[in-house]
Amino acid sequence: MLPVTAGLVIVGASYAGVQMAATARDLGFAEPILLLSEEPHAPYQKPPLSKGYLSGKVDDAALPLRGEAFFTENAIDLVCNTRVAALDLAGRRVLTADGVYGFRKLMLATGSRPRRLAIPGADLDGVHVLRTLDDARALRAAMRQAERAVVVGGGYIGLEIASSLIAAGLAVMLLEAADQVLARVAMPPLARYLARKHREKGVALRLGMTAKAIVGDAGRVQAVECDDGRQIPADLVVIGIGAVPNGELAIDAGLATCSGVVVVDDRAQTSVPDVFAAGDCACAEQGGRLIRLESVQNAGDQARAAAAAATGHAPPARPVPWFWSDQYDFKVQSAGLAAGYDEVAMRGNAESDRFALFYFRGQRLIAVDTVNRPGDHLTARKLLARRAPLTPQQAADESTDLRALLDQAAAT
Ligand code: NAP
Repeated sequence: MLPVTAGLVIVGASYAGVQMAATARDLGFAEPILLLSEEPHAPYQKPPLSKGYLSGKVDDAALPLRGEAFFTENAIDLVCNTRVAALDLAGRRVLTADGVYGFRKLMLATGSRPRRLAIPGADLDGVHVLRTLDDARALRAAMRQAERAVVVGGGYIGLEIASSLIAAGLAVMLLEAADQVLARVAMPPLARYLARKHREKGVALRLGMTAKAIVGDAGRVQAVECDDGRQIPADLVVIGIGAVPNGELAIDAGLATCSGVVVVDDRAQTSVPDVFAAGDCACAEQGGRLIRLESVQNAGDQARAAAAAATGHAPPARPVPWFWSDQYDFKVQSAGLAAGYDEVAMRGNAESDRFALFYFRGQRLIAVDTVNRPGDHLTARKLLARRAPLTPQQAADESTDLRALLDQAAAT
């Protein structure tokens, strides 16, 4: 029998929601925890969905975020298929179609959803988005029948899907509205390198181009009409044009938000005491700006901060943002935030497909992108966390021992 009132109610059971429950228990939270999920599935990993899951290298059995035992052993009541309709913060209640749950502390981990492409034909059969396991299952099945795909959007989702489609033997055209791929999330040196690699692998990459309409016959996609009027034949279209935060519950409940995103502090606290938010639905101040970081790392770290605050513990140290992407045989990893850099140093060379880009602002290291150099990525995260002194010349010089610099920074 589920508790009608829980010490902690968590809305959303992906990375942030599950991490909040896990860390709260680790930190000694002893009251009932209720984890509400709109999904029909138990919490699962999302990164493989655009990569190994599409190729068939990763199957359903490898996807669970935590085993069943985690929920029972930690007395976390997971309720799937449950959409929260509204929050009554003054009454400390969460309202769903099936019932009302009281809470002492509340976590909003509602995530984000794919941005829809508002053009004619976007609802035809054969047009896909990728966010959930069900989306991935549908896309994987469709890929097996398809020969010619158009991907709309050159963010990480579009690039990862393009690489999976090429590996599956499809002809792929990718349309990106901006004049570089990854315009929102990566700096030009990495974006240019990845664009070149996608072209070398066979993707017909069109920058500064988008879709005006999707043309179909008998309800099925047949072609994509680009904004220059050309029609590209396609039997599969995948739209990856960004993610919209699920901030509606917070807005309706009167929490402080910015452009539909819940504003939180370093402890993931919202504008209302005992109400926390983390992950894709939340934004926090970084370097004088409110930033929404859409990454597994950020969801987990904000949830850990929220759990610490909810249990009266000191906040964890401010983490260095990082994330990764796998495309073809490239492991791309990024640490820190490179926006606003004024100098970049390359370690290694792009021809070898093994290099690192060190970004500096005012001679201070602010971010590092690596391609197929996982060791450098790990070291870079530590260099950034310790604010270790490093010059662009040292970074570019392969004879500089980065780990030794790290040890020196730790000793001072
Ligand atoms: P994204 O990073 O926002 O990239 C979408 C791209 O599509 C943007 O460059 C966008 O340009 C462009 N675009 C927008 N409208 C377009 C149009 N009509 N035609 C052509 N291009 C258009 O989002 P995403 O790649 O869809 O990713 C969605 C979410 O999944 C994000 O949260 C992302 O972090 C996550 N994800 C992460 C990973 C990873 O960490 N490895 C992998 C896959 C997905 P504008 O910005 O100018 O609109």
